[in-house]
Amino acid sequence: MSCKTNEELTKLVEQARPFVKYGKVADYIPALKESNPDDLSVSICYLDGTRFFAGDYVKKFTLQSISKVIALAYVLIENGPNEVFSNVGMEPTGDPFNSIVKLETSNPSKPLNPMINAGALAVTNMFKGEDHYEKWEGFIQFVQSLLGIEEVSWNENVALSEFNTAFLNRSLGFFMKQYEIIHGDIEELLFLYTKQCAIEINCSQLATIGAVFANEGKDPVTQEVKVPSDVARICKTFMVTCGMYNASGEFATKVGIPAKSGVSGGIMGAVPHKCGIGVFGPALDEKGNSIAGLNLVQLMSDRYQWSIF
Ligand code: GLU
Repeated sequence: MSCKTNEELTKLVEQARPFVKYGKVADYIPALKESNPDDLSVSICYLDGTRFFAGDYVKKFTLQSISKVIALAYVLIENGPNEVFSNVGMEPTGDPFNSIVKLETSNPSKPLNPMINAGALAVTNMFKGEDHYEKWEGFIQFVQSLLGIEEVSWNENVALSEFNTAFLNRSLGFFMKQYEIIHGDIEELLFLYTKQCAIEINCSQLATIGAVFANEGKDPVTQEVKVPSDVARICKTFMVTCGMYNASGEFATKVGIPAKSGVSGGIMGAVPHKCGIGVFGPALDEKGNSIAGLNLVQLMSDRYQWSIF
């Protein structure tokens, strides 16, 4: 069964909306405190290009951790899996996304996966380019190509707000520099990473990127290859095993689709061979996932039988 009208999606949003009152917006990045906790919106992009929406689906928000999937795809394409997986592992941690603990207790101190902050920093550190400008240009052009648009913006206020307060991420960076997982200037890396996390997007665009991953790397409308199919497969696998923070196991059990969330309240889903999903709901649960967004994705997965398991 698939979604047929915006009205049926609106009903599911209204069913999930009451959950916003049990969550709270992220406040460790000061600029995110300004988000409206009552927001909830969704977009589905089917692989024939048909789209459905509910809520304020054009409202922009920042990618935050959802950018980690895109950055992983980018370095897998540019650097190849051998280099990537010599710097970052493939195992879930069961720890919060910003934890430093496994870096010290695991040998040889390489971050366990690319979806936690330590792993994402190691991934961004692999962006190719002579300087910050070239590294950023390469990455933002890749994001633009996924969306099929010429310009994607980033939110300077959010990026600087995180950059000025990212002491834990700096610690992760310095720790990995000590163990030669990360090379170069940590401040420059942090600037690149916080810009990457502050890329602005809306639900509809998030669903488009989800649809590319769902469609084995091909644009859902033009069928143009945006990401090689083996890279899309690796990214979806990480979304299943580590995409929803340390609630990934529960999410796989209850919802059963490759998905990645971010602390701005976004969730990107990629239902293989069916559709991409973009959800935005900034009120988060204690693990950092959109609380009403989770509920909404579960309602959709039950109704449209999305679970891959
Ligand atoms: N920029 C955020 C950080 O590094 C991303 C975290 C997230 O969305 O999980 O803390």
